[in-house]
Amino acid sequence: DVRRMLLAQKAYSEGGLALCLYGARLMDEQHTHPDEQKRTEAGKLLDLLTPVIKAWPSEYGPKANDLAIQVYGGAGYTREYPVEQCWRDNRLNPIHEGTNGIQALDLLGRKIWQDQSHGLQLLMQEMQVDLQAATTERCQQWALSLSETLQQAVKVTQSLGKSLMGGEVDKTLANASCYLHLFGHIIVSWMWLRQANAAANALASANSDSERNFYQGKLQTAQYFFHWELPTVAQDLVLLRNQDDTCLNMKADWF
Ligand SMILES: Cc1cc2nc3c(=O)[nH]c(=O)nc-3n(C[C@H](O)[C@H](O)[C@H](O)COP(=O)(O)OP(=O)(O)OC[C@H]3O[C@@H](n4cnc5c(N)ncnc54)[C@H](O)[C@@H]3O)c2cc1C
Repeated sequence: DVRRMLLAQKAYSEGGLALCLYGARLMDEQHTHPDEQKRTEAGKLLDLLTPVIKAWPSEYGPKANDLAIQVYGGAGYTREYPVEQCWRDNRLNPIHEGTNGIQALDLLGRKIWQDQSHGLQLLMQEMQVDLQAATTERCQQWALSLSETLQQAVKVTQSLGKSLMGGEVDKTLANASCYLHLFGHIIVSWMWLRQANAAANALASANSDSERNFYQGKLQTAQYFFHWELPTVAQDLVLLRNQDDTCLNMKADWF
């Protein structure tokens, strides 16, 4: 069980870090890429991904810290050890940049559709490159899971788009946080596939135990993400498909 908690922390922190570094690279390319079209495209991708880059690591960072407390048991809960301080510091992040609820509204209400969804099309093209770059049996399996989930997400996005265009704004945006979770998990799965592809290639030519351990660790953590985390979006897909109105229709007096 401790290995499970440590793997989850590695999956959240290195997945989130990969996402932030991808965003940082887009920021650079937006200003420095020699091809003007690529500069524009980097800006569009960054625009689309910004709510996810702000929200996903800020939600999953404290989850990792929470597990770190649990790994240390009673000692983790006390202030003598730094993990409790890390949790409290990181707990601010889903709040102080406008709250993750607002990031969800920005993603589903605006970013997905802006510029006739050009950013979304660019994102799908970028993902295709890495889906096709999966060559080992393990990576291909994960690429297949990601590609299937992506297809379902595209379908649900189209139906949400129809509802928004049809004027059902409150009902569609009521479950924006589920959409942010679905979209975020797909993006971080993609980040793990990119890392797994690189690790699988590098493992073949690794020439020391520490290098091999590093790449094996990446592959095992990618497996954790694909087996334990990506499937959690099934619930988001159901709620979004049904445009579930449980929360929307709750009345203040009923609390
Ligand atoms: C330690 C700390 C440092 C900060 N530093 C800065 C700073 O340097 N600069 C700065 O500008 N601000 C700063 N802030 C303020 C921060 O930006 C706000 O706390 C944040 O934007 C959330 O606003 P709020 O606290 O008014 O919460 P509210 O806006 O009242 O949100 C409360 C809850 O309601 C939800 N909610 C709000 N509106 C909607 C809506 N329309 N639809 C659905 N749900 C909604 C939110 O998601 C949240 O869950 C800081 C806050 C903290 C705690």
